[in-house]
Amino acid sequence: MKDFFGEKAIKLSIDGGFTCPNRDGTIGVRGCIFCSERGSGDFNSESCKSISEQINEQREIMSRKWKSSTYIAYFQSYTNTYDTVENLRKKFNEALICENIKGIAIATRPDCISEEVLELLAELNEKTFLWVELGLQTINNSTANLIRRGYSLDVFEKTAKMLKTKNIRTVIHLIMGLPGEDREQMLKNISYVSALRPWGVKIHMLHILQNTDLAKFYLNTHFNVMSHDEYVELICDSLELLNEDIVIHRLTGDGKKSDLIEPRWTLNKLKVLSDIDKELKKRNSLQGKYAPL
Ligand code: SF4
Repeated sequence: MKDFFGEKAIKLSIDGGFTCPNRDGTIGVRGCIFCSERGSGDFNSESCKSISEQINEQREIMSRKWKSSTYIAYFQSYTNTYDTVENLRKKFNEALICENIKGIAIATRPDCISEEVLELLAELNEKTFLWVELGLQTINNSTANLIRRGYSLDVFEKTAKMLKTKNIRTVIHLIMGLPGEDREQMLKNISYVSALRPWGVKIHMLHILQNTDLAKFYLNTHFNVMSHDEYVELICDSLELLNEDIVIHRLTGDGKKSDLIEPRWTLNKLKVLSDIDKELKKRNSLQGKYAPL
């Protein structure tokens, strides 16, 4: 971001007032098993406010913490391409005309990018710094069924390639620690993503949050939850496999303290990040060390 804008860019999380086909009955009504009540946008402004009101409110909060005049409007909650092209264009354009908004990040599902939406994204890509975030989580079909993701790997792959043909930056989300996934499977997920060469990757540790079906599943099964040390090892192994050109957007998630059942160690995010740094130093290693050419 500093290379592109000459300074740090600050992301403002927006709730565009969309829903999700995995919640409105089109695919399912209960959503992905881990999805929180606010569609995985727990730190956003409220969707009853207009886009510009949310941007102004968030910018005010963030400007107390970071000094910058570069902001990215991050459409985070639910599925941000799940509407008519007309409404989508209106909402994205409303964000773009706000002061110091220099880019847009759009989080969505790969089964919600039609030809028309792709054309709209290509149009946005021409006029601003755009990236599209796709939640993949895993490449394993049984896990995908267990978490009720609601689309196949083929659909994901087709969309990721379509975005690439339009030169649209793509960020792929993966979740570590999904029930039943061992280290080998998680590293397979990483290698798959690395081979696709997206612009970026976000890696999350699975959060078991109150009032989700995952919480019930956990209380019934007590599936294995990784420890802090296991996670640090796994992330370093993952970074070594990820192509060096891929931008790492996230190495661990933010869970709301009051809602997080497990793993509680993720609340100390700085320790997780600093231990990853220390482990890489200890190994004398870095991103891409073992990535195939
Ligand atoms: S696709 Fe996203 S918003 Fe929809 S249910 Fe899954 S996690 Fe929630």
